[in-house]
Amino acid sequence: MPKPSASSAKHAQLSVRLSPRGVARLQGRHPWAYRSDLIIEKNAQKDILPGAMVRVFEAHEKGERGKFLGTALYSSSSQIAIRMISHGSVADLPALIAERIHAAVAYRKEFVTNTDAYRVVFSEADFLPGLIVDRYNDVLSVQILTQAMDSAPAREAIVQTLRKEGALMPAGIPAGIIERVDPRIRDLEQLPPRPSGPLFGDKTSTVINMNGIRFHYDGLEGQKTGAFLDQRENYAAAARYAHGEALDVFCYHGGFALHLALDPSAKCSSVIGVDSSRPALEMAEKNAALNGREMEWIEANAFDLLREYSAADRHYDTIVLDPPAFAKSKRDLEKALRGYKELNLRALKMLRPGGILVTCSCSFHVSAADFMGVVADAARDAHKDLRVIENRGAAKDHPILLNVPETSYLKCVMLYMSN
Ligand code: SAH
Repeated sequence: MPKPSASSAKHAQLSVRLSPRGVARLQGRHPWAYRSDLIIEKNAQKDILPGAMVRVFEAHEKGERGKFLGTALYSSSSQIAIRMISHGSVADLPALIAERIHAAVAYRKEFVTNTDAYRVVFSEADFLPGLIVDRYNDVLSVQILTQAMDSAPAREAIVQTLRKEGALMPAGIPAGIIERVDPRIRDLEQLPPRPSGPLFGDKTSTVINMNGIRFHYDGLEGQKTGAFLDQRENYAAAARYAHGEALDVFCYHGGFALHLALDPSAKCSSVIGVDSSRPALEMAEKNAALNGREMEWIEANAFDLLREYSAADRHYDTIVLDPPAFAKSKRDLEKALRGYKELNLRALKMLRPGGILVTCSCSFHVSAADFMGVVADAARDAHKDLRVIENRGAAKDHPILLNVPETSYLKCVMLYMSN
């Protein structure tokens, strides 16, 4: 985490102490400390307001303060009681937010290419825990996930900085900044409900261009902040290997399908997209039309459809599997692994020799090793030999912070089936 430019505290900030376990976690460069590792003196408990900035110290054996560890944002409701924002002192949170947003934009300038839609700020991975900002061409979408980021001064700093962040937009100023609210998260953070809506300007929908392919974006509709930007580089990679008859299973707005059909490097004779959501398929169809194409979209439960197609002896040369997160928590792991195994097994049985399987998992709780293991099990059961062409993750605008495993969640494996 970079040191802030300000070094002395303007206001008296309250302090918390951390148990040795909490200290060890922080020293491992992880920004979180759990409530069970936090020591707040009884008489100070009511003084620490939800979302406050606090100074963090090691707890000394005799109940005194030990070493100063840095500055964090406090949540009164989350099990993650504090999220570090600096290893030093922070005088002014709004100034720090502005500084961190500039740094996040500078990182994207260097590493993000061929798109006007990408994640600008990715929470902990950009040292701004609780804040997500996505750019969709001239519209910015903001998600606020913690009490601290929801405070009026933090909100003001976020909107004002994004408005003036000239490097972000060709025209200098965004045509709209919208807030996308996740009611479940506000509830968990004990924040009052609020609707999704504009924070600046009035534009809420636009057209984006990823890898030369155009997509409609409506900031107040759809899942996530409207698109799965984390797969953007994987779309282009998949297109490099795709050929023949292709099936994009769990296609949503057609991210993979459109690349397989339209990217100049893809050599597909036909592409079919499958999803269980009618509104998602309607948008996929509109996206195809936007690029001057008509394509086939099938509304179906993917498990049923794959079962039916393999029973009917249908075969494909390229299959993409990008299901929703099957494991939302650790408890779901076994069931999730069974789900991934079944999907991959069915797909492999339908793949022609020389075929390409692009298989993804966005479940954080399923590790890359677990996922590869499940695909290997499916290959064994299908009596197929597979080569890993590429073992990929999220696009570079969703950085993985090395000592923060939670920032790494997407797996996207591209395989070649030789027999
Ligand atoms: N590949 C997409 C993202 C897929 S997200 C992209 O790159 O944009 C997962 C999708 O799976 C969602 O669109 C959701 O509607 C769909 N879905 C969820 N359960 C499904 C099921 N059982 N069968 C088919 N689609 C399903």
